[in-house]
Amino acid sequence: MAAKGRIEINEERCKGCTLCALACPQTIIEMATDRVNAKGYYPALLVDPDVKCTGCALCAVACPDVCITVYRQVPSKTRRAEAAV
Ligand code: SF4
Ligand code: SF4
Repeated sequence: MAAKGRIEINEERCKGCTLCALACPQTIIEMATDRVNAKGYYPALLVDPDVKCTGCALCAVACPDVCITVYRQVPSKTRRAEAAV
């Protein structure tokens, strides 16, 4: 089974530079178009209705402002756990 992940983006820290979106191999990060943050930037959003995020963390590595926290599902025989990467 492919690894599954999810990310949390700190929208208030984001400057809308799009580097995370360019880095994501699944192309599931977009810039918001309906709102700006307190600094006036369109923040990045995870748009992943098909749960394609693998938790690879490339987006977090690319972000110059450390806005992204990545969580990756850790398969287990007895339970499912989720760990911050
Ligand atoms: S962790 Fe990987 S797959 Fe998930 S949003 Fe970030 S770059 Fe894309
Ligand atoms: S790389 Fe960071 S600052 Fe740039 S758009 Fe993505 S989350 Fe925002």
